[in-house]
Amino acid sequence: MVKLTFLGSGGGRFMTITQKRGTGGFVLEDDVKMHVDPGPGALLRSWENGLDPRELDAIIVSHCHIDHCNDANILIEAMTNGGMEKKGTLVGSDSVVNSSSSMMLQRYLESPERVEVLKAGDKTSVGNVEISGTPAIHSDPSTIGLKFRTSAGIISYISDTQFFPDLSKWHEGARVLIASVTRPAKYRIPYHLTTNDAIRLAREVQPELLVVTHIGMKLHTMGIENEIRDIEESTGIETIVASVGRKLLIDKNSITKGL
Ligand SMILES: [Zn+2]
Repeated sequence: MVKLTFLGSGGGRFMTITQKRGTGGFVLEDDVKMHVDPGPGALLRSWENGLDPRELDAIIVSHCHIDHCNDANILIEAMTNGGMEKKGTLVGSDSVVNSSSSMMLQRYLESPERVEVLKAGDKTSVGNVEISGTPAIHSDPSTIGLKFRTSAGIISYISDTQFFPDLSKWHEGARVLIASVTRPAKYRIPYHLTTNDAIRLAREVQPELLVVTHIGMKLHTMGIENEIRDIEESTGIETIVASVGRKLLIDKNSITKGL
């Protein structure tokens, strides 16, 4: 059984500073526990939603923008029990682990047991979960998407990227597809997905469930509910929002939605 807990569905600078939907990323629990893209609020929302960040085995960061990596330092502090134990893994893009402009503090790059850069096309693993880096086209050029091979099948995460023809192929086979959909269909900006892109991705990948996250201010203001209905009606694929505290229980045959 794999459990996903979402800690926010907001993204972009204005949703991040206003915290209208939370920006804490999500936690994936299989035989191991990992926190993915811990933006602002990740630590606090973990505790508020029954997750103890001291139990984390890994922190995975797709790129070094503040809505994705802000709480990575403090989560490493928790994972290493206040720096008392050298344990756990940090997996990040090159911009998270190696860049001189990274928001990671040096002491937290040194305190996990393992620190690894993941690039598109590379694989690593944490416990029983194999993690593949997938490509992205984003203003942080080392941004990666993430494909998790878990005991309940593939869970895929499209982090910040603009649409490109091979994007679906990289996320093929996903039972749950988590996609960062920032903009309404008619308001495309560079480096981000729109709701139209989400429709195309859902049609091509054919997940059992599409989870929309990283909703930008314009999409939030225009009303995400209508857009979700549109995605569902035009694809026939069940679509939900990664609201704070939303849980999914995934086993080999079914996906159960909490909250
Ligand atoms: Zn972002």
